[in-house]
Amino acid sequence: MNDDNSRELYDRALSVMPGGVNSAVRAAIEPYPFFVQKGDGGHIIDADGNRYIDWVMGLGPLMLGHDLPQPVKSSIQQKASEGPMYGMPTEIEVDLAEFVVRHVPSVEKIRFVNSGTEATTSAVRLARGYTGRNKIVINQGGYHGAQESTLVEGDAENTAPSSAGVPQAFAEHTLPVPFNDEEAVRKVFEKHGDDIAAVMTEPILGNYGIVHPTDGYHDFLREITEDHGSLLIFDEVITGFRVGGLGCAQSEFGVTPDLTTFGKIIGGGFPVGAIGGKAEIIEQFAPSGPVFQAGTFSGHPVTMAAGLETLKFAAENDVYDHIDGLGDRLRSGLSDIVAEQAPEYTVAGTAGMFKVIFTRDGEAPQNAADVKNAETDRWRRVFWGQMKDQGIVLSQNQFECQFVSYNHTDEDVEETLEAYKEAL
Ligand code: PLP
Repeated sequence: MNDDNSRELYDRALSVMPGGVNSAVRAAIEPYPFFVQKGDGGHIIDADGNRYIDWVMGLGPLMLGHDLPQPVKSSIQQKASEGPMYGMPTEIEVDLAEFVVRHVPSVEKIRFVNSGTEATTSAVRLARGYTGRNKIVINQGGYHGAQESTLVEGDAENTAPSSAGVPQAFAEHTLPVPFNDEEAVRKVFEKHGDDIAAVMTEPILGNYGIVHPTDGYHDFLREITEDHGSLLIFDEVITGFRVGGLGCAQSEFGVTPDLTTFGKIIGGGFPVGAIGGKAEIIEQFAPSGPVFQAGTFSGHPVTMAAGLETLKFAAENDVYDHIDGLGDRLRSGLSDIVAEQAPEYTVAGTAGMFKVIFTRDGEAPQNAADVKNAETDRWRRVFWGQMKDQGIVLSQNQFECQFVSYNHTDEDVEETLEAYKEAL
């Protein structure tokens, strides 16, 4: 596979950007990232003209694929041509807010921001401002973006920043517990219950190999937070409008969080984040309340148009049936291949999320420790070597999930299963 142009671009990029990229994970492809020229339906074409089936889909935002339906495209073009933004309110942000409030029962009010990181950062500030408490409980192996309060590792007894530049003082307010471990959460509440502003969790861990909640785990979190006057924040940046359709993952699990953070799909492929929830809590945001929150680009008209038209298209067409159907076929095909060729591995996912995790015992991971035990080196050889050479692009590390879009086809699924067979 010729990659001269990518290599040349990477050399240029290295001399002007740290690691040659604008987001840490993008440099993970070995020996260097390929540069994308353009998307085409469920595929991408790199800077050297090589075509791949794309299961990354922008890391999740592109529910409809690279080839947007005409109403979505027209609305984006129309907004961009009217002067792209104003720093003042526009009708389309009200339209998208009304749409989300109508479809996600826990969301009575919403504020739009520009990234998932901004959403989780603002949600944590809001929870602290509303409760007057400082501590937050997160899950080991969860990811809530590049923000100070959650770039923290360790356990509830012993935390440390997971990135240089994060003050220890932030880590002291963050209590990481294993996902699916009710006992650990109980202990944390026994010790710190009066100081805990919120438990923030992804309904399904999507940045750690896809880890599903055990039955009743989210009900348990709902109950224990309520008992202690703490908030439950669902980080639905990945699962929002992907799992559970327009009601999001919370509708699938039948749990009503106090706050939900959104990102990715809700912006239809443009930079976005949002914090939704109970009106009484969201009203604590300035200017109606004392918790400061603001942004030049927030509610950007092009983003709002892309998000609204994407969700409207999903509401009016067979988007979820198509995506979930292909997801089911991928997962069941992969399960057969894994059972036959590599029974020590696990196939995980739901709806439009899927992943083969290189576990060592064929057991579905329950928490970050299980995923950490996976065979990362073998995964690297298989996927950056064999899969890419067969024209399939998967997520860039062992821990991120892969996404099905409306543009993907039966043929894409068949070709991908054949490639996995070969690679495994
Ligand atoms: N929360 C979750 C669950 C995510 O997966 C991500 C990003 O992948 C974020 C937050 C951060 O979003 P962003 O990258 O848009 O800042």
